[in-house]
Amino acid sequence: MNPIGMHYGFWSHNWDEIAYIPLMEKLAWLGFDICEVASAEWGYYDDARLRELKACADHNGLGITYSIGLEAKYDLASDDPAVRENGIRHVTRILESMPKVGAAILNGVSYAGWQSMPTWGITMDEKRRKEDLSVAGMKQLLKVAEDNGVLYCCEVVNRFEQYLLNTAEEAVAFMQRLDSPNAKILLDTFHMNIEEDDMVEAIRTAGPYLGHFHTGENNRRTPGTGKLPWKEMAQALKDIHYEGALVMEPFVRMGGQVGRDVSLWRDLSGGADDAKLDQDAAASLRWLRGVMEGLLRYKSFRATSL
Ligand code: MN
Repeated sequence: MNPIGMHYGFWSHNWDEIAYIPLMEKLAWLGFDICEVASAEWGYYDDARLRELKACADHNGLGITYSIGLEAKYDLASDDPAVRENGIRHVTRILESMPKVGAAILNGVSYAGWQSMPTWGITMDEKRRKEDLSVAGMKQLLKVAEDNGVLYCCEVVNRFEQYLLNTAEEAVAFMQRLDSPNAKILLDTFHMNIEEDDMVEAIRTAGPYLGHFHTGENNRRTPGTGKLPWKEMAQALKDIHYEGALVMEPFVRMGGQVGRDVSLWRDLSGGADDAKLDQDAAASLRWLRGVMEGLLRYKSFRATSL
C-alpha cells in the first residue's frame, strides 16, 4: 500500500515558522503516514534537534520526506559559477542531514532555481545550455545522494515556476542524462493538469523513473474535491508498479509568503479555521486511500462534505 503524506505548508502562511512536533503529532492523529518537511530548515538543524524530531516521528509512526524549492541564490543552472557552487554546498548539507532522521526522499524543484525564470524568451539552444549547467551540478549531488541513501527527485512543474522540466517526457530525458539509480522524477497533479496532454499517460511515461508523487486538485484544493481523473491515475500508478508515497500538497489559505509563492489571491478555504482544515485533510486522506485501494467510489465528495 502506498504511504500517504501531507506537505507541511497546508496550515501555514510562512515556510519557515512551522512547529514540527505538534504538526507531526497532528498528522499521525489524522492518519497520515508521512510528514513532508522543509529541507531548507531541516538541513540546518543541529544533531540534537534532528534527534528530537526523529524521536517524535518514530513515536508517531511517521516517515519524513524532504521538500525543496531552490532559492535563486542556490540555482544549479545559474550563469554565475559562485551561485552554482553555493547551490551544491546547500543541497549537500541537506542530503547529509537526511539519514539522521531516516529520510530517503528529497523532492521538489531540486535541479535549478524555483521561480528563477529567464528574463527574456529563450531558444532551445539556450535551454539546452542551462540544462547542461544543471546536469553538471546534479551529477555531483547524485554522488552525495547515493552515499546517503537518498532518492533525489526532480519535480516537473508548470511553466510559470520553472522552464527546464515542464512535462514527464522532458523529465525522462533529463533522467537519462543523469544516469543514476538515485535520480528520480516527482510528478504533481496540479502541475500535470496545466502542462500534460494526458495526465494518465504522463504517469506511464515516467514509469520506473517515478520516485515521488504530489497530489492536489487543479486549483490546489485537497484531492477528491475537484475534477482530476483520480481513478485513472491510480490505475496508472498501479500499472507502473509505483510503490512510493503520495503526498498531498494543497494550498487553500491566503496570505504570507506561502500565499505569495503559490500565487493564491483568493480564499479557497472558505474562512476555515485549523480544526476545519484538519477535517478536510482527514477526509481527503480517507478518500485518496480508498481510491488507491479501489474500495470507494471515486466521484468527488466535495458536494457532500463541504
Ligand atoms: Mn509539488
